[in-house]
Amino acid sequence: MARKFFIGGNWKCNGTLEEVKKIVSMLNEAEIPSENVVEVVVSPPFVFLPLVESLLRPDFQVAAQNCWVRKGGAFTGEISAEMLVNLGIPFVILGHSERRSLLNESNEFVGDKVAYALSVGLKVIACIGETLQQRESGSTMAVVAAQTKAIADKVSNWTHVVLAYEPVWAIGTGKVATPDQAQEVHLELRKWLHDSVGAEVAATTRIIYGGSVNGANCRELAAQPDIDGFLVGGASLKPEFADIIRSLTVMKSQL
Ligand code: PEP
Repeated sequence: MARKFFIGGNWKCNGTLEEVKKIVSMLNEAEIPSENVVEVVVSPPFVFLPLVESLLRPDFQVAAQNCWVRKGGAFTGEISAEMLVNLGIPFVILGHSERRSLLNESNEFVGDKVAYALSVGLKVIACIGETLQQRESGSTMAVVAAQTKAIADKVSNWTHVVLAYEPVWAIGTGKVATPDQAQEVHLELRKWLHDSVGAEVAATTRIIYGGSVNGANCRELAAQPDIDGFLVGGASLKPEFADIIRSLTVMKSQL
């Protein structure tokens, strides 16, 4: 089974009601390949999720940007995974570096969140990635392997996991990883999955890249054999997101 190209749009904490409606109109008018070729998932802030889901074209899906680690209850300010399921939200982004760094989410906490979200039927975009300091000290692979292991320790079925490799130094900085840099880590991650989880999971799990992807750099990145799509922040709010959705030119075959 080939890995279907996957494009996620992370809107982060952006947008007014009017702006959100404009972005949805832009997406609804975009000419893009069929959903057999590319899976598109956009992630508005929680408060806009039901609206976006109701207005968005049926071939695009929505994702929440976070959810609580366990069953809902007395957790003021949190949104439970069950609530997302109840609203028909299929995906959730977990472990984004902004949450890891600003809200101190540990590898283990992210692993618990991924496992819980999967257990109630959500699909998960699980984010991992090294800081600039970690890259410069040569520990990129050790860092992303530890982050992935914390997920693998809690998860036995990877069918509904998309792994997003997002080097922290490339997020929102305009400093994109080169195609070679990204491909190198994606290949190593796939080898890690092969050796630590299994051959089937390694061959079928989508590993997408995130970090300053835009309409100009997406095609070269998409051409790398182990890059199965993108998680896009800033550019997902702009018309060039449609160019990114169209970036896959050659269907990837199974390893
Ligand atoms: C992100 O936040 O997941 C991201 C990749 O952001 P940007 O594309 O703006 O670097």
